[in-house]
Amino acid sequence: MTDVSRLPGAIRHQWDWQLDAACRGVDSSLFFHPSDERGDARQEREEQSKRVCRSCPVRTACLLHSLRAREKFGVWGGLGEQERRALLASRQRRGRRWRSAARNRTAGRGRTAA
Ligand code: SF4
Repeated sequence: MTDVSRLPGAIRHQWDWQLDAACRGVDSSLFFHPSDERGDARQEREEQSKRVCRSCPVRTACLLHSLRAREKFGVWGGLGEQERRALLASRQRRGRRWRSAARNRTAGRGRTAA
């Protein structure tokens, strides 16, 4: 049998926020839609889950985790799938603009006026 006692433990502090989650003990199906759920039913379930998130003391940590991990499904940090996708897309656009502006500034260095 493999001795794992010397291996580093789980990085507990990265997950500790979950211990204070308002959704602990809440049925996870409130946060994750069944594949055939559409329309009003989906909107209603999502609104209920977001209500839980609004009172959650670790909402920011949850949202940051979901963005970092690119969680595709469910409500995390009070945001649904489409809202998180939009947030990530907006962040990528801003990042591209910033990198492009930085490149332009760098490319402009060293040039002298004619
Ligand atoms: S923000 Fe919402 S999904 Fe995240 S831990 Fe809190 S209650 Fe759960």
